[in-house]
Amino acid sequence: MSAPKLYKTTAVVLRQRKLGEAGKILTLFTPNLGKLDAVAKGVRRPKSKLAGHVEPLTYTTFLLAKGRDLDIVTQAQALEAFLPLREDLERTGRALYVAELVDRFTPERQESYPIFRLLLETLQRLATGDRLDITLRFFEMRLLDCLGYRPQLDECVTCGKPLQPVENAWSAESGGAVCAACARALPMSQSLSLNALKMMRLLQKGSYGDCARVNTAPALEMELERHLRQYLFYLLERDVRSTRFLDTLRRSVAASETVGG
Ligand SMILES: [Zn+2]
Repeated sequence: MSAPKLYKTTAVVLRQRKLGEAGKILTLFTPNLGKLDAVAKGVRRPKSKLAGHVEPLTYTTFLLAKGRDLDIVTQAQALEAFLPLREDLERTGRALYVAELVDRFTPERQESYPIFRLLLETLQRLATGDRLDITLRFFEMRLLDCLGYRPQLDECVTCGKPLQPVENAWSAESGGAVCAACARALPMSQSLSLNALKMMRLLQKGSYGDCARVNTAPALEMELERHLRQYLFYLLERDVRSTRFLDTLRRSVAASETVGG
């Protein structure tokens, strides 16, 4: 028998699921190999040395052995545990949503360093920043770019004329903004305020710092979330479990504010 082939990679743990008596299958997102599943044997035993290093949302260095089906974790050393993402529910829900979007949108073993970098930077921002929703919108817009679904925001998707600085419309099915005239023929389109259009352009073309500096009213943040999520939903053609978690979170926060105020 030849020795198993070992290789080393860093990865963000996107999720894990139980395997057999004491093991787990980890879904990892790596810089050079894209997304891959790996087996962590015995990780559910109380004395497992791996356990603390392979939790979802951890950034870890792995030593993996090539398996017949799935590769096997032989060593793992956490580089960044992102503790605030575990301790603060507002951050936890958003970070799980980010991990889930990456998981749902990416195929196995297709390298995408830009997505890896975006994922890691987003987790860092969610762990330490204070613009959590703008961080999510920036992540969604840039992920769409990486995936080849960049929404069109300068000209009307339907007629191709430059969009005027007025209220236009958003069409998830068409993949971007449409002018008011074309929107009449698109019953599923939603009104798109001028501020939302401007902010979407900034999210698409500006730096994260540019976006985080803009003072956005709650109504505008909600509008941005609605349009981007509708587009992502349209692309996924199914619901994302984490967004339901976020909605539940939002309702519970609103309820506690009502009770507190
Ligand atoms: Zn048009």
